[in-house]
Amino acid sequence: MKVGLISVDGRHFPNLALMRLSAWHKQRGDDVEWWCGFTRYDRVYLSKVFTFTPDFDTVIEADEIVTGGTGYKDYRNLPPEVEKTAPDYSIYPQYPWAVGFLTRGCVRHCPWCIVPQKEGWIRPAADWEDIKRPDSREIIFLDNNVLASDFGLEQIERMGGENVWVDFNQGLDARLITPWTAELLSDLRWKRFVRLSCDTSEMLPVIEQATAYLLEAGIAKSRLWAYVLVKDVADAHQRVLALRNMGILPFAQPYRDFEKGEPTEEQKAFARWVNRRPVFQSCAWEDYRKSRR
Ligand code: SF4
Repeated sequence: MKVGLISVDGRHFPNLALMRLSAWHKQRGDDVEWWCGFTRYDRVYLSKVFTFTPDFDTVIEADEIVTGGTGYKDYRNLPPEVEKTAPDYSIYPQYPWAVGFLTRGCVRHCPWCIVPQKEGWIRPAADWEDIKRPDSREIIFLDNNVLASDFGLEQIERMGGENVWVDFNQGLDARLITPWTAELLSDLRWKRFVRLSCDTSEMLPVIEQATAYLLEAGIAKSRLWAYVLVKDVADAHQRVLALRNMGILPFAQPYRDFEKGEPTEEQKAFARWVNRRPVFQSCAWEDYRKSRR
């Protein structure tokens, strides 16, 4: 069987579903490759993670076309036999790290977030040793709320002191950072940042307390970083300034409504101001906003 793969969002980050599908087909003796417009396939998989990327609009020559992913508002899991297949990293030779989930789901129901609907209540997914690649010491975890899971905490505790470099790239829930969890986190080797989330102004005192615990446990302030959801720009501006005063590097994410699509121009401009570091360090938001008029 000849199988083609299409990552509709591009190849800026390894697509776990496509890597698992590739490995599963190769185990069955199938011929798998990135889709090529000059080839006819028995089956082509299109995976789309983001709702805001445009759909693939080129004609596909294939007997069967299978689409999946949040970008298609398709919240189904892969078939169990594919889900338990180890990813085929050979399709992404440019990325030298492992990627995976210790846990799936979340205990919260933030109104802007698709995770509760898509993944449900938090549950174990995999041991960290099963996610680690034999040829790499770096792991990027995609967990949505690992600190809310006893299993996730157990995995973090077991990883402490191991020779692996980690990143929890979806952000940690500061409400669950206690002196004890801060100690567990401080025993990890961090690839770069310890990422938090600051989606509402109510999170600011919580983050201030979590920061104190993390610093006390020995995590350097220069590692602290936070996602900032941008719905109301004035409110996001206050959060960004407060985080900066705490010594935390903010990263702005404009809110995208799953049904209605694109953020406003002001939300996008605000995110550009925050995320372009030299601009953020040298220019106030009011001046940046005026300079665009
Ligand atoms: S805590 Fe994070 S993952 Fe959980 S519902 Fe809220 S935004 Fe989503």
